[in-house]
Amino acid sequence: MTAEEKILKCRQCGRDFLFTPEEQAFYSKHGYGSPRRCKDCRRAARLQKAGRVYSGVCAACGKEARVAFPPAKETLVYCGDCWAQIAAERRSMRKTRGSR
Ligand SMILES: [Zn+2]
Ligand SMILES: [Zn+2]
Repeated sequence: MTAEEKILKCRQCGRDFLFTPEEQAFYSKHGYGSPRRCKDCRRAARLQKAGRVYSGVCAACGKEARVAFPPAKETLVYCGDCWAQIAAERRSMRKTRGSR
């Protein structure tokens, strides 16, 4: 059993993505073939299926931002990367203020 990383092409966005040995093991264990879409597209499809995703423009970097609420005019939306950064900043801010 020599598992190697495979490069697959996403059917949805056309980008190459990595199919790792761990994923290959998972897929064969469950009797699936190779994934046809990259992780990003799969995640987006999952969120869309749940009916909880809205698209906006990230206020920080301008990339597409997928959010779980409809972006209101005055609400800034952020992509996953920027949101993680902001959340971390907020957390540290709360800590220094010593709330609670
Ligand atoms: Zn894709
Ligand atoms: Zn961003």
